[in-house]
Amino acid sequence: MKLVRFGPPGHERPGIWIADAFGPDAPGILDVNAMAFDIADYDAHFFAHGGLRRLPALLAEPRRVVVRADGVRLGPPVARPGKIMALGKNYAEHAREFGGPPAVVPVVFSKAVTSLNGPYDPIRLPPVSRHVDGEVELAVVIGRPARRLAEETALEVVAGYCVLNDVTDRDAQRAAQQWFYGKSFDTFCPLGPWLVTADEVPDPHALRMFSRLNGEPLQAGTTAEMIARIPRILAHISAGITLEPGDVIATGTPAGIGSARNPPRWLQPGDVLETGVEGLGTQRAVIERER
Ligand code: ZN
Repeated sequence: MKLVRFGPPGHERPGIWIADAFGPDAPGILDVNAMAFDIADYDAHFFAHGGLRRLPALLAEPRRVVVRADGVRLGPPVARPGKIMALGKNYAEHAREFGGPPAVVPVVFSKAVTSLNGPYDPIRLPPVSRHVDGEVELAVVIGRPARRLAEETALEVVAGYCVLNDVTDRDAQRAAQQWFYGKSFDTFCPLGPWLVTADEVPDPHALRMFSRLNGEPLQAGTTAEMIARIPRILAHISAGITLEPGDVIATGTPAGIGSARNPPRWLQPGDVLETGVEGLGTQRAVIERER
């Protein structure tokens, strides 16, 4: 299933994306809350209380409530996760272009949850930002509480996967010598379009990924290049930190980021940035300057 949250910012409703609901190129969204009043949102409570297991029955319901998807805004597919964590230098080629060796021990940092953005929402550069670029990443969404996971069974706690763009202000990142601030500006974490449930992603380490700026290819890679793979990432983090339902973990970015090119390709107002992972959809963001 492809889970979406639809509606205006702050008032999204939980839904299920149906690609051909109204015909071959006419997608629809099953309105989950209209059919199951107690499912208020795709939040920690939903994942912790078996919400995912209830959705197939709603899809099979003869009198299901489906709205047309055209013109409907999508929000990030997870509501207010407890934490967003991310891996630095987890692709060897990218580590080299960023300047430095690939990570031996996973480098874990976090992004503020207030940086979340819808998959087609504009990315807004604050007046102070001059040198910003994007990073396409595969994100893992946690489905149940977990601590001290073994690598062999770690994938059992994954609810699903989505695209995450780890937008970064490079000046702020370098000046702070610590990544949280420069990676946490408002709108700097587009997530979605869908949360694709784990059963539909048989091998999360075999997905092509790309980013494009104004149609020009920037990043191209595959999740096969990850240095620490998802089981190791989950075991490493959960050795000391409790993972909670709804938590989001971004697993690193492949080579080709705009800032590492010659000349560099910084995000400018009016640019269109697309970021996609095979099977998980493509985000499209217009860059704006905040006034
Ligand atoms: Zn990143």
